[in-house]
Amino acid sequence: MEGKRCCVIGGGGFLGQHIVERLLKLKCQVTVFDLRKTYENELVKFTCGDLCDKASLLPALSGADVVFHCATPSPLSNNRELFMKVNYHGTKVIVEACKEARVKHLVLTSSASVVYEGSDIRGGTEDLPYAVRPMDYYTETKILQEKLVLSASDSSIHTVAIRPHGIFGPRDPHLLPTTVKVAKAGKTKFAIGDGKNLVDFTYVDNVVHGHIVAAEALLKGKSVDGKAYHITNDEPIFFWTFLSRLLVGLGYAAPKYYLPYKLVYILALILQAVCVVLRPLVDIRPTFTPMTCALAGTHHYYSCERAKKELGYVPLVSLDDAILQTLKSFQHLHTDVI
Ligand code: NAD
Repeated sequence: MEGKRCCVIGGGGFLGQHIVERLLKLKCQVTVFDLRKTYENELVKFTCGDLCDKASLLPALSGADVVFHCATPSPLSNNRELFMKVNYHGTKVIVEACKEARVKHLVLTSSASVVYEGSDIRGGTEDLPYAVRPMDYYTETKILQEKLVLSASDSSIHTVAIRPHGIFGPRDPHLLPTTVKVAKAGKTKFAIGDGKNLVDFTYVDNVVHGHIVAAEALLKGKSVDGKAYHITNDEPIFFWTFLSRLLVGLGYAAPKYYLPYKLVYILALILQAVCVVLRPLVDIRPTFTPMTCALAGTHHYYSCERAKKELGYVPLVSLDDAILQTLKSFQHLHTDVI
């Protein structure tokens, strides 16, 4: 990987910035393509633009040995039109532009959620079928995107999809800030389910490592192209234990009361139906949805054996260290500070 020319589409985001930092450590030449410039780094060449626009994308791809595609609209937006535009049609544009620019290697950040339908998954492998009834528009378009990228693999371009699950770590704009926001609103007294559902949470450095070993495998011509790989910490943990460790680490109380999963799920379905009925009058987009409820109350952890065997992946940072590092980096959200 050392010294390679890389383009990171979405390199201004949470995962993207961490990928960029690792590539710089590997002495790669890095170009970032993103809607926004989120940081200054004189070693990085930034191009601001929309990935759906091939003309602005092409110069950023020119000469790249590897392209990493980790851009997405926010999963919370629940905007089907935007997800279809960026995750599906935009990814089509990326594949075409890569071919036009003679880029040979494309690493897509997919998601383990492409096989998740709200029911328990224990140690799921990549052989699980795609969700037939994806739980939200984000997942629906991640499935379309992954299928598109993997099927594009041919003699002119080699592609691979990395499927992380529950990414967290320093600068995470999603999981930890949302948890703190909910805690500040006094809504973390209650847990969904019996607290015994196992879930993967994956430290961002391990997710980055998964991308790097995948890119290296492509560059070495290993037969990984057209395949998807789960990347996890390989240490599933009870969902509510993980959240409690974050909450307590930042001075908030852990949930005390456990609510029956089925009851809460039905309430989320009713709330969703009410919002749909009211939509012509008022556009309410609750964060409490059947998807968020299922994610908090079911087992969903995945096997990363294929990545270990075929990519040589091993998680670099243990879950305990990862939680410590994350809490350290979020001290500004500690109750003693705010
Ligand atoms: P993020 O929101 O922090 O970053 C996404 C970046 O994409 C942003 O910088 C945004 O500006 C950019 N972007 C969005 N639309 C664009 C467009 N039209 N043109 C150019 N750039 C655009 O998200 P993240 O958490 O870093 O997620 C990175 C990837 O990892 C995504 O593909 C996501 O689906 C996947 N993923 C994330 C998680 C997680 O827990 N965060 C879990 C599984 C998979």
